[in-house]
Amino acid sequence: MPRFIPPEQSSASVDIPVPYSFEFEGERVRREDLQVEFGGEAGLSFELLTSKKEDEINDWDIEVIGPDIDQLDGLSSSFPLAVIINVYGRKMQNDFEPVLERHIHRFINYAFGVMHSGQRDTSSIRVSRNVYLKGFRLKHIGIILSAMLHKEYSAIVDKVEVRIYTKKEDVERLLGDARKVFAARDKRLSGKTDESVDTYYSCLICQSLAPNHVCIITPERTGLCGAYSWLDAKASFEIVPTGPNQPILKGRVLDKRLGQWGNVNKFVKEKSNRNIKKVSIYSLIDSPMSSSALLESIVAVVPEANGVMVVSRNYPGLTPLGISFKALAEPVGTGVQTPGFLGISNLYILSRKFILAEGGIKRLVWMPKELKGLLAERLSSIARDIGEPDLLEQIADEGVAGTLEELLSFLSKAKHPALYMDPLI
Ligand code: SF4
Repeated sequence: MPRFIPPEQSSASVDIPVPYSFEFEGERVRREDLQVEFGGEAGLSFELLTSKKEDEINDWDIEVIGPDIDQLDGLSSSFPLAVIINVYGRKMQNDFEPVLERHIHRFINYAFGVMHSGQRDTSSIRVSRNVYLKGFRLKHIGIILSAMLHKEYSAIVDKVEVRIYTKKEDVERLLGDARKVFAARDKRLSGKTDESVDTYYSCLICQSLAPNHVCIITPERTGLCGAYSWLDAKASFEIVPTGPNQPILKGRVLDKRLGQWGNVNKFVKEKSNRNIKKVSIYSLIDSPMSSSALLESIVAVVPEANGVMVVSRNYPGLTPLGISFKALAEPVGTGVQTPGFLGISNLYILSRKFILAEGGIKRLVWMPKELKGLLAERLSSIARDIGEPDLLEQIADEGVAGTLEELLSFLSKAKHPALYMDPLI
């Protein structure tokens, strides 16, 4: 097993064989330039950062467990990957873990010819042939992460070690534990509501990808990448008060149904370079929030069904609208408002505030089977709470409805509640 512990790396330098700068953050690695891809569409990949005790960590210890890039057949579609980062810091708190984890995206994207996307268990990494030929290997991912965490978070991080796994059986085994950590983080928020706080938080991290995009994060609406809850944004502000997560005192309610507040509109207008004048936190049709390319899923109006569908990043097929996630994400994820289409985190589907202005979860008519399975238990519980106990079975998926015609036929037989609601548009 290759292990890399460079004693000279106690400083913040990023010693890798390719240029490293924030200027490369928005760079894409196209399929035709690819040496290897980890994760990606329907691929198996995740990343996790957790804190450990001081004596459990060897600072700068980077280990690659499994075949490295030069031992993989780059022509295969996608390879499994787990990037596990352990950190120790005297001032580190558990609340800070997801905040630091979110910066993996930025840190890896600073490397020329390397492209990271997604987060948690939807992450993917592409390495171009060009940088592979220059000697870039998986240990360099570990060097980047160790160097940048030391450099940018020295106030809370004293030690970093990185484990990178590439064998399918290892990644699958570790993914189960990682998902428990993600679920526990999501659960911490329960009990907080949009009404119970007077402050929301912004996130501007994605402005490197979509210059006018502003995420507004509330207790009942996580950032659309799924990685930033209200608590995470709050913790991020505590770590870096001048950083991308700023508090926004809500101020006067302008429209309760749509979810519009005076100070939120003012903030979004300023930070979107005056491109977005107002934003409705609870609507997908009237001044919806903009989206960035990091969105986990897309909600889209299906006018014929008087409802909406949700398509997630991991779903590679066509939706009943005859369009794939990828084709939808290209226009939707550019930081502009796209009424009728909305980038969301998967968790937002379970929020009481999910497209509340349009009637909420009862509008949901189609979603991929995998996502439905992941959310099934909590969706059923919400459905019972709103007096629609059969809703989960009434929502179609690709197994029963691949086309619009099949969808309408399924909804009609299932007596889906959306068919009996007020016209959506
Ligand atoms: S999607 Fe939103 S919350 Fe997530 S990193 Fe981008 S701006 Fe921040």
